[in-house]
Amino acid sequence: MTAKRNDVAELPGLEAAAALGPTGRPRTAFPVPEPLDSHGPARIITLCNQKGGVGKTTTTINLGASLAGYGRRVLAIDFDPQGALSAGLGVPSHDVTTIYDLMLGTSKDVEGAIHQTSTPGLDVIPANIDLSAAEVQLVNEVAREQILAQVLRKVSDRYDVILIDCQPSLGLLTVNALTAAHGVLIPLECEFFALRGVALLVETIDKIRDRLNPAIRLDGILATMYDARTLHSREVLERVVDAFGDDVLETVIGRTVKFPDASVAATPILAFAPEHSAAEAYRQLARELIHRGAAA
Ligand code: ADP
Ligand code: MG
Repeated sequence: MTAKRNDVAELPGLEAAAALGPTGRPRTAFPVPEPLDSHGPARIITLCNQKGGVGKTTTTINLGASLAGYGRRVLAIDFDPQGALSAGLGVPSHDVTTIYDLMLGTSKDVEGAIHQTSTPGLDVIPANIDLSAAEVQLVNEVAREQILAQVLRKVSDRYDVILIDCQPSLGLLTVNALTAAHGVLIPLECEFFALRGVALLVETIDKIRDRLNPAIRLDGILATMYDARTLHSREVLERVVDAFGDDVLETVIGRTVKFPDASVAATPILAFAPEHSAAEAYRQLARELIHRGAAA
């Protein structure tokens, strides 16, 4: 009996396969980060994909909560007029100062726009439908692409990471988010049409680097809604890795109904179901980004 077990264990192919993660690379045990003894200035990460429903908001919420769980001070910016981030974190987005007010100058009180969330260390500046007008209203402003960067400069010293949750578009607001950022994180749903549009997104990031923000870098492509049981998911992930190589993060977010459930509860999955594999996946994402130098 024992001999048989050893036989199997000695088959190198099997052992190697078990050690590989879903992206086909060996699994890395990203270390738990050391606590920080001082805070700021923030590294700014924009979560961007002009396709809707790919996990930008879910990732902003849960990456933010994970980084906060590791003692990082995190500010999340709701940069979508739908206000899903504000709702998902349980903060009001009406009759409050929003990112729109700060950008248009109808309020200069950045501090007053910041809300604490139920996760200690994770704050948010909300947005609502007003923001949809900004795209047109900012067109004639001087340095219209740099307005968000200017707003964030006022609070950057107090935070370790600022996450910007973009709307699904490549318009002027997203250009503002990319101009303000040190890095971009691209969530990509493991679905057949996922790769459509990513070329355009990468082209946009290249243009921003050439014209507005020379330091911006691609922090990584995050595969989301991955279902290991379906050949389809595995094939899509394989194509993403073929196309983007090491830019694809090792951490992959599985598809689970816990996310919609947590949204209804207006809380990160880390608080809603901390032991769930999806919560651990987002903690791993935080460790991977810190390990890669993409977060403090
Ligand atoms: P985006 O901000 O890119 O539009 P969301 O984060 O709002 O995308 O996600 C779209 C929908 O998919 C939401 O209802 C969310 O709860 C759900 N969702 C996000 N990530 C997952 C996942 N890994 N598994 C299952 N559902 C998910
Ligand atoms: Mg969203």
